[in-house]
Amino acid sequence: MFFRTIFIIIALIIVWFVLKRWAKAALQDYIEKNLPNPKATIIEGGPMVRCQHCDVHLAKDDAINANGVYFCCEEHQKLAQHNT
Ligand SMILES: [Zn+2]
Repeated sequence: MFFRTIFIIIALIIVWFVLKRWAKAALQDYIEKNLPNPKATIIEGGPMVRCQHCDVHLAKDDAINANGVYFCCEEHQKLAQHNT
C-alpha cells in the first residue's frame, strides 16, 4: 500500500512536468503564429515610392518606373509626360 502511494505520487509529478513543458511549447508556438513580427512586416512591405502625378504612396514593385520617376498607373505617367 505504501509503495503504491509513492508510485502514484511519482507518476503525478512526472505527468505534471510533462504537461508543463507541453503547455509552454504550445503557448510559444501560439504566440509566434498569431502575433505579427514587426521586423518581418517591414521586410515584406518593401520600399515605398510616391506617384509623381497624384502623390499617392505605393509599393515600389507595383509602381511604374519611368527613368527613376514613379507613377501609380499608366494614365498618370501619360498625364505627367504631357505636362512637361
Ligand atoms: Zn498617380
